[in-house]
Amino acid sequence: MRPVPSILHLDMDAFFASVEQASKPSLRGKPVIVGGLGARGVVSTASYEARRFGVHSAMAMAQARRLAPNAAYLIPRFELYRQVSDEVMALLRELSPLVEPLSLDEAFVDLAAGPYGEALATEGAELARAVAEDLREDIRTKVGLTASVGLSTTKFLAKIASEQAKPDGLVLIEAGREREVLDTLSVRALPGVGPATEETLRRAGLTQIREVAALPQEELVHLLGRAHGAGVHALALGLDDRPVVAERDAKSVSVEDTFEVDLLDRDHIVTELERLADRCVRRLRAAGRSGRTVVVKIRRFDFSTLTRSETLPAPTDDSLVIAQMARRLLDSVELLGGIRLLGVGVTGLADWTQEDLFAQALREGLEEDAADEAAGEAAGEEEAREDAAYGGPAGPRAFHPGGEPKARRWAPGQDVEHTEFGHGWVQGSGVGRVTVRFETPNSPIGRVRTFAVDDPALSTAGALPLLGGV
Ligand SMILES: [Mg+2]
Repeated sequence: MRPVPSILHLDMDAFFASVEQASKPSLRGKPVIVGGLGARGVVSTASYEARRFGVHSAMAMAQARRLAPNAAYLIPRFELYRQVSDEVMALLRELSPLVEPLSLDEAFVDLAAGPYGEALATEGAELARAVAEDLREDIRTKVGLTASVGLSTTKFLAKIASEQAKPDGLVLIEAGREREVLDTLSVRALPGVGPATEETLRRAGLTQIREVAALPQEELVHLLGRAHGAGVHALALGLDDRPVVAERDAKSVSVEDTFEVDLLDRDHIVTELERLADRCVRRLRAAGRSGRTVVVKIRRFDFSTLTRSETLPAPTDDSLVIAQMARRLLDSVELLGGIRLLGVGVTGLADWTQEDLFAQALREGLEEDAADEAAGEAAGEEEAREDAAYGGPAGPRAFHPGGEPKARRWAPGQDVEHTEFGHGWVQGSGVGRVTVRFETPNSPIGRVRTFAVDDPALSTAGALPLLGGV
């Protein structure tokens, strides 16, 4: 364990929603919800004002609308989020070459590997705290957003610290005080403990980290299996030697598992493959990327290794699509005799932008096919109408890869330009009209005007930088 809290975890506060509030003066201090606005949409991010109504990320958009009917509902503008994220990550790279982004708005930084490394070894926690406060100040003034920062001796504790710091704060957990902090937390705070593991632990009477830490490791292994049990036990004791790994320039993302006993049963192999595909997608998304080529790697009982790959027409980060391709690739391989290693990878990586909508269209298309098969055509048509009512290109029917949309659609939050009134954003549309608020990141709160949806003076526009220009 490090003697100095030199692992930093940065987490931007309500990132997508905060970018929208910084962009749109009229939304500052107001509940803002960003996500898919179609019939099956989910919340990506809710501003702190919206969270007071009980809205949170991953919630169904329909439920969010019931809880906070007066919030602003906006489509995500990934291109802008990526630009802002790049600015934040560049500030982190000034502190160390070891920056590990977990998503567009979250990253670990190993301060010991950077220019402050040597000074940290002698000056310790106070210097780490000063570096982190300077970073937060830089993000506030140079990027225009607030960030929360955690500092500690391990990745796990640094992440716990940044959660405790939220919003807009800094928490440092000093070397030697890790257990003190862990003793106050529920098992849900442990990485790798999801709802299923939590339930297993709860049935064994374990709800707090300190209860898990007090058990002999064998009991955890008995409950959760060898690898998982040992891992959870170590983390509960505050033992975490995972290094910060710079992953930014990776050309591919892959995961693989070697099995202690060769897998023989085809169903079992498929289950493992799906689990790997899921892990691979999580890593892909954590890095804010998507990819075109899915690769499956198989090592057979006789150590012969082979790979199979297939390339999609456009990048995706969709778990359903990637798992389905991986299964199809596995189907093309003779598995007799058993396998000892299985891997799933995605290459041909791209940043998310438009591709994200394509992934959503693919996913919702797959779901709709299933729904249509079950319920007949009528159900599908009803959905199409519903999506039209919400009026967003986030809806699956509104996305036309390779073709022109039939009618102009305006999505809430979208950037527009008017020949007379200048830059603005769509507040809403319906019954042939579109409402636009004309304001920019650096303007006062703007005025609202309404136009016919096909008004030739109105066109789509790019996002303006948060702190750029006047
Ligand atoms: Mg965040």
